[in-house]
Amino acid sequence: MKPGRSNPVSGARRRRHRGPLDRDRLRRGARLFLTGIGETDLGRDLKRTPERVAEAWSTEIVAGYRADPARILATSFRAREEGMVVVSGIPFASVCVHHLLPFRGTAHVGYLPGGRLVGLSKIARVVDALSRRLQLQERLTRQIVDCLDRALRPKGAACRMEAEHLCMTIRGARKQESRVVTSAYTGAFTRNAALRAEFLRMSGRATSPAGRGPRPVRKDRRDRS
Ligand code: ZN
Repeated sequence: MKPGRSNPVSGARRRRHRGPLDRDRLRRGARLFLTGIGETDLGRDLKRTPERVAEAWSTEIVAGYRADPARILATSFRAREEGMVVVSGIPFASVCVHHLLPFRGTAHVGYLPGGRLVGLSKIARVVDALSRRLQLQERLTRQIVDCLDRALRPKGAACRMEAEHLCMTIRGARKQESRVVTSAYTGAFTRNAALRAEFLRMSGRATSPAGRGPRPVRKDRRDRS
């Protein structure tokens, strides 16, 4: 994981990506990858591995490339409610763009309505659509708030993500206990520390610091706001 530019969602969608997930290329790529490891005669256990890899990656692991988060949020509705809305504890799984290794954890998303609300399950679907891609956690966090911002025009949007990165725990520094925490804010949240504190409290950050067990939390926070 390295700090990266926080591209807007549209930019990410335009990124050098050849249309729909090409299962045949994925299969051939997996086969080549195996020969690179030294597994040249794909007998027994490995016989169907390229096909399984292509299937898993195209239908699940990076299936978010097929989803359009803006469309998921397109059906919002007018409402006068002004209180902060927070959906906390959304599980997510993504793939590190640098090593193609998974990182997974929890997302907490909030917004301060500006006249429109959206179904709460839609927020979880947006997290899913954007995380099932090759990602940097910092960029993913930013994309989630930018997406909410564009779709709902709220007074502000907030996202906090914490995750374990396999590229940190099984290679490199091998920091078994480390977790990466990122946050991104728009609008009122960027200007108002009390609102950010309220978001963190509502997302369970301040109230149950011990809830995650005794392991130390590595605060690798890289706010861009
Ligand atoms: Zn990585």
